[in-house]
Amino acid sequence: MPEHTSTPATTPTSTPSATAAAQGVAGEIEVKPMTHVPAERPMRDVMGGASRVQIPVLDHGFVALVDAMPRLVPEGQTADAAIVQAARVSYGQGTKAVSEDRGLIRYLLRHRHTTPFEMVEFKFHIAMPIFIARQWIRHRTANVNEYSARYSIVPDRFYTPTIDAIRKQSKSNRQGGEETFATEANTSDAATAAAFLDYLRDAEALYEKYKTLTDAGVSRELARMGLPVNVYTEWYWKCDLHNILRFLSLRMDAHAQLEIRAYAHAMAALLEPIVPITMEAFRDYDLGAMHLTRPEIEAIRAAAGGKVGEIDSTNSRERAEWSAKRALLGL
Ligand SMILES: Cc1cc2nc3c(=O)[nH]c(=O)nc-3n(C[C@H](O)[C@H](O)[C@H](O)COP(=O)(O)OP(=O)(O)OC[C@H]3O[C@@H](n4cnc5c(N)ncnc54)[C@H](O)[C@@H]3O)c2cc1C
Repeated sequence: MPEHTSTPATTPTSTPSATAAAQGVAGEIEVKPMTHVPAERPMRDVMGGASRVQIPVLDHGFVALVDAMPRLVPEGQTADAAIVQAARVSYGQGTKAVSEDRGLIRYLLRHRHTTPFEMVEFKFHIAMPIFIARQWIRHRTANVNEYSARYSIVPDRFYTPTIDAIRKQSKSNRQGGEETFATEANTSDAATAAAFLDYLRDAEALYEKYKTLTDAGVSRELARMGLPVNVYTEWYWKCDLHNILRFLSLRMDAHAQLEIRAYAHAMAALLEPIVPITMEAFRDYDLGAMHLTRPEIEAIRAAAGGKVGEIDSTNSRERAEWSAKRALLGL
C-alpha cells in the first residue's frame, strides 16, 4: 500500500539552504523538500482561543486545561473526530457523517478498542494537596513535571476542609471516610471536629519555622520535610484520552477519596465539550455501567420465583458487593 494516496496541490516549501543543512546532517541521505498541506475545511480551536480553561477545586486548587491534541478540528466537529480518523485509517475511509462517527466511537469504547483514544491528548496544569498528588501519581501512563521544593520555596497554601465537611472513619470501608461530624454547638462531635481543625492549624504553623530555617540557610530539600501533606503542590500532567478515561473511571468512583474525586469531576467537565461523544459513551459504558462476575450471572440465571438469590461464594466481601449490585439492579 502506498504511503500517500493523494498528491497535495501545494508547492514544496523548504529552501535550498534548509535542504543543504538537512543533507549535511544526514550525510548520504537526501531529505526531500517538505510540503504544507492546507486544511480542506476551515478549522476551529477546541479551546476557543483560550490559553487555559480552568476550574477551581477545593480551597486553593485548580485543574486547568492548557493544551489539547488535536487543538484544531474542522468547523462543526469536535476532537472526537481524531479518534474516528485513527480508527478508520486501517481501512482507508475518510470522514463520514457525525452520526456514524458517534456509532463508531461508541462501538470502539464498548469493545475496548482502545488505541484510537490514545490519539487524543490533553495537557493540564493542576494544583492539589500533596496527599492527593500521592494518589494521582500512581497513574503511570501520564507525563508529569512537578513543582520542585528543592529548587523553590513551597508556597504557603494548605488544604483545610470546612468544619461541616470533616468525615468520620467509615465502619464498613477501612479506606474510607463517610458520614460527617454533626457540628451543632456543644456536641462531642463538634468538639472533635474543632480539635481536628486545631490539629491542622498546628501543622500549618510549622510553615513559619520552615521559612525561618530556609532564611537561615537550611537547604530547601531538607527544610520541606517538616511540612504537612495538606500543603499544595503543582504539576503539568499530560495524558492520552484512553488513560485519562481510566483515571476518571477510578477516581470519579464513589470508592475514591472525596478530594481526588473533586479533581476528577472537574477534569471530566473540562473534557465534556471537547470530546462530547466519547464522554457520553464513557458515562454509558463505564461510569454508569456495572461489571457482573460469573457467579453473579449464575445467581441471576438460577433465580427462582422471580427472586435472585446469593452467589455461590463464602467470601464476605464478594457477597457484600453482590448484595450492593442486586440492590442497584432492583433484584
Ligand atoms: C479507590 C482506590 C484505592 C486504592 N488504594 C491503594 C492502596 O491502598 N495502596 C496502593 O498502593 N494503591 C492503591 N490504589 C492505587 C491503584 O492500585 C493503582 O495503582 C492506581 O489506581 C493506578 O491504576 P492503574 O495502574 O490502572 O493506572 P495507570 O498507571 O495509569 O495504568 C493504566 C494501565 O496501563 C497499564 N500499565 C501501566 N503501567 C504498566 C506496567 N508497568 N506494566 C504493565 N501494564 C502497565 C495497565 O493496564 C494499567 O491498568 C488505589 C486506587 C484506587 C482508585
